[in-house]
Amino acid sequence: MVLTWILGFALLGSVGAIGAAALFLLFPKPVRERLVPFLVSYATGTLLGAALLGLLPEAIEQGGLRPSLGTVLGGLMAFFVLERLLIWRHCHAEGPCEVHGATGYLILAGDALHNFVDGAVIAAAFMSSVPLGIATGLAVIAHELPQEVGDFAILLDSGFTRMRALKWNLLSGSTTIPGALLAYVGLQQLPQFNATILALSAASFLYIGLADLIPGLHRRIGAETGLGQLFLILAGVGTILMLRMHQN
Ligand SMILES: [Zn+2]
Repeated sequence: MVLTWILGFALLGSVGAIGAAALFLLFPKPVRERLVPFLVSYATGTLLGAALLGLLPEAIEQGGLRPSLGTVLGGLMAFFVLERLLIWRHCHAEGPCEVHGATGYLILAGDALHNFVDGAVIAAAFMSSVPLGIATGLAVIAHELPQEVGDFAILLDSGFTRMRALKWNLLSGSTTIPGALLAYVGLQQLPQFNATILALSAASFLYIGLADLIPGLHRRIGAETGLGQLFLILAGVGTILMLRMHQN
C-alpha cells in the first residue's frame, strides 16, 4: 500500500510535472513569465513548510535532536559541494542561463540527479507516515512544475525541437521513480537509516528553497511583486500546515 503511494507521488512529481509543464508551453511567453514566479513562490513555501513542519520533526523524533540537526548541517554542506561540482541548482530563468552556460544536456544531467534525490525523499517520507508523504510529495510537485517549465525553455533555446525537449525531459525527469524504488527497498532492509534520510531530505528542501528559489525571487523587484511573493510563500506554508494538522 505504501509503495502505491510512493510510486503515485513519484510519477506525479516527475512525469506529471513534466506533462503539466509541457502544457504550460502552450501559453504565450509573456504569460508564462508572469505565472512562473507565482509557482516558484508557492513552491518555496511548501518546501520550507515540509522541511521544518514535517521532515525535520519526524527525523528528530526517530533519530534524536542533535544527530538530526548535525545531519541537516552535513546535508547542506554536501548540497553546496554537489552544486559546485555538478549543476545541482534548479534554473527557473527563461532564456539562456549564465549558471548553466545554456547547455541543454548539462541541464538534463543535473535534472536526472536532482529528480533521483526527490524520489528518495518521497519514499523516506511515506515510509514514516502517509500524511508526511503527502505533504512532502506536494512540495516535490510544486517545485518541479516551475523547474520543468524553465528546463523546457532552456532546451528549446539550446535548439531542441519541442518533441525532442519533451522526450529528453521525460527521460531525465523520470529518475524520480528509480530513486523512490531504491530508497524504498533500501529503507526496508535498513530501517535504522530512516531518520538520517529524513534529515537529509529536510536539508535538500531547505537548500532548494533558501539557496535556489528565494534568490531567484529577489531578482524580481517591485513592491507589489514582493507582497505577492510573500502571500504565495505563506499560502505554500499554509498548505503544508493544514496537511500536518490534519494528521493530528
Ligand atoms: Zn525537485
